Amino acid sequence: MTAIAVLGSTNMDLVAYVPKAPRLGETVTGRAFRTVPGGKGANQAVAAARAGGEVVMIGAVGADEFGVRLRSALTAARVDTAALRTVEGASGTAHITVDDEGGNSIIVIPGANAAVTGLEAGDEARIAAAGALLLQLELPLSAVLAGARAARAHGVRTVLTPAPARPLPADLLAATDLLVPNEHEAAALTGLTDPLQAAEALLADVPEVVVTLGAAGVLYAARGREPLTVPAPRVRAMDTTAAGDTFVGALAVALGEGRPMPEALRWASAAAALSVQRPGAQDSMPTRAETDAFAAAQRGAAS
Ligand code: ATP
Repeated sequence: MTAIAVLGSTNMDLVAYVPKAPRLGETVTGRAFRTVPGGKGANQAVAAARAGGEVVMIGAVGADEFGVRLRSALTAARVDTAALRTVEGASGTAHITVDDEGGNSIIVIPGANAAVTGLEAGDEARIAAAGALLLQLELPLSAVLAGARAARAHGVRTVLTPAPARPLPADLLAATDLLVPNEHEAAALTGLTDPLQAAEALLADVPEVVVTLGAAGVLYAARGREPLTVPAPRVRAMDTTAAGDTFVGALAVALGEGRPMPEALRWASAAAALSVQRPGAQDSMPTRAETDAFAAAQRGAAS
């Protein structure tokens, strides 16, 4: 089984469904409210576990009810939470307003995630035992950098999702093997709106880049190789929340199994395309068997 370590965030998503988002000073009556376990780190951990990986999650939850639920959502997905600390204060929360057009606005309060400023005892060994370390930017940069450096020191592949977008320090890029921005993050990092140009510019700093392009699929670029586009399966999308995290988790598992990049990209695209046909974030992520079946059906349709 592919061992995957995730160093990242856990957030409780507090989602209010409203006809129209309130303007400053306005009060509106919403339609419904849901609390859903999320955070890019936890989402990628669940995606990788459902894809068949043996996953350890490194991070923190708060000493509150949300912390208990965030941990149990991970354990329910068979993610090892021994390195998920419980720290004083509130868990991370994301306050999300979704309007009738599907538009959303989000306030993220890092809470316990802000307490993860570096690695703790045992974390380096957990990273060293993994085939890949998945990183995002919802923890303090000092922790992300410490994780990337530990992975690099032990020859573990580092996969960085640069979200939320922000300038990346050179030492973090230098310890990154595979960068997976969406097209907006690729543009924010390079100032180039064309994804191919952006990917090629990013190759100055990292050896491999996958730019996710939503319904258009993914673009892969590597130093010294022809870029490759993998179209997404054509599906009826109903909720694309965490599509990118589903893709990254599945990709890491497939690469960890030694599958060639084009095959791994197609398999991860199948997983992501399944997730967008279902509501929710972690709830929408497919199992390995579901992805295998869908990927096989796609191959059949293409041949
Ligand atoms: P999110 O923030 O919702 O997690 P993202 O913005 O990080 O997503 P996207 O590029 O929108 O990432 O989507 C990630 C991947 O999910 C795409 O590369 C594609 O494989 C798949 N995907 C997204 N939307 C669709 C869709 N409408 N149909 C099929 N596949 C999709």
